Amino acid sequence: MENTDLLRAKSSHAEFWQHAHQYFDRVYQTMNLDPIWREVLASPKRVLAVSCPVKMDDGKIQVFTGYRAQHNNARGPFKGGIRFDVSVNRDEVMALAMLQTWKNALVDLPFGGAKGGVVCDPKKLSFGEKERLTRRYTSEILPIIGPAHDIPAPDAGTDAQVMSWVLDTYSMMVGHQELGVVTGKPVHLGGSVGREEATGRGVMYVLRAFLATQHKPLENTRIAIQGFGNVGFHAAQLLDEMGATIIGITERKSGIFDENGIDVAAAGLYYRERGDLVDYPHGDAITNEELLTCDCDILIPAAMESTVTAEVAPHIKARIVVEAANGPTTPDADEILRDNGVTVLPDILANAGGVTVSYFEWVQGLQNFFWSAEEVNNELQKIMDRAFAAVNAKADEADCDYRTAAYTIAISRVAEACRLKGLFP
Ligand code: GLU
Repeated sequence: MENTDLLRAKSSHAEFWQHAHQYFDRVYQTMNLDPIWREVLASPKRVLAVSCPVKMDDGKIQVFTGYRAQHNNARGPFKGGIRFDVSVNRDEVMALAMLQTWKNALVDLPFGGAKGGVVCDPKKLSFGEKERLTRRYTSEILPIIGPAHDIPAPDAGTDAQVMSWVLDTYSMMVGHQELGVVTGKPVHLGGSVGREEATGRGVMYVLRAFLATQHKPLENTRIAIQGFGNVGFHAAQLLDEMGATIIGITERKSGIFDENGIDVAAAGLYYRERGDLVDYPHGDAITNEELLTCDCDILIPAAMESTVTAEVAPHIKARIVVEAANGPTTPDADEILRDNGVTVLPDILANAGGVTVSYFEWVQGLQNFFWSAEEVNNELQKIMDRAFAAVNAKADEADCDYRTAAYTIAISRVAEACRLKGLFP
């Protein structure tokens, strides 16, 4: 995708909330559920907007806008990431919080859904500026977060270091170390082993489980991945290790294509050192748009929302799309892919590995009892395989696509929790 296209995609973020709502409503209407929960679930329970004044390195004060949207907590405390990105806005975090509710319910975690974000370009902030911004944002949302209330985690533009500052700020304010307030922490600070690569690992498990239903191995499949951040990189690396050939990778402004297979480790190193893939010495340069429509077996959008649009969808050659990002496919694009016989493994299933290991981290932190990598990965695989099997069975039974099946399961679980609790007062 060229920069102008990227801007166009960003301007459509206001529509993203409508898309999330549309996906929910389309399925809810087909379910035999009380209409009252449709209204309750159609909007977030709470959205907090905060302004965060931060002293920049040049001595000037800059005010950043932040949000925390909490969609539903019928099944447990709110849970979801914090995003640092220039495109963050109220509608976006509302949509992402709703998606998180369905995701957490689908993999059967005892959590509701939330999402937060700060409007900023993290690549332009110095280390100190990022720390001061994180601490100020954390203190602003502090009244509504906590280990039993709402547990943030990393998302686009944030990482384990940012989570360390969230942990420390919260702990300083309450007067004791509170490991359960945030997940995605560094392992040396109460994080879980395996959390960093968990989303990518979950993508691999779900894809492998789907291919098994087609009696196809992962080996030698040709895969293109949009996005080379935490999720894209780890998915690429794990799929490569499993014998797949990664033929295309893009990041925001550049990408590489190599029919013979990209050396993921080398490309990862180059990207981490430089911040982009411009002038990467191997393979051919490729734009985001070319990647989405390239000749491959499997396409993995692992970047931001609304990148697979109705303009791009008719030209997609992959037969399988695995949504490693949140909300990458717009509803009209989804319909085109369905009509064209493309199988879409939906975000709320495919990228649920991250929050699943976040759940393990939360449990470990509350108990101060830590698991081995083997235990984490085995438990993650069990949960992802179980979720895929449930979605696959529902799709067979209802003769529907995987997204509809996944939403049906997730919505019925959340609606049932709402029904059992009833209304307060
Ligand atoms: N931000 C991740 C997601 O979109 C992880 C959320 C979490 O671990 O709470 O699922």
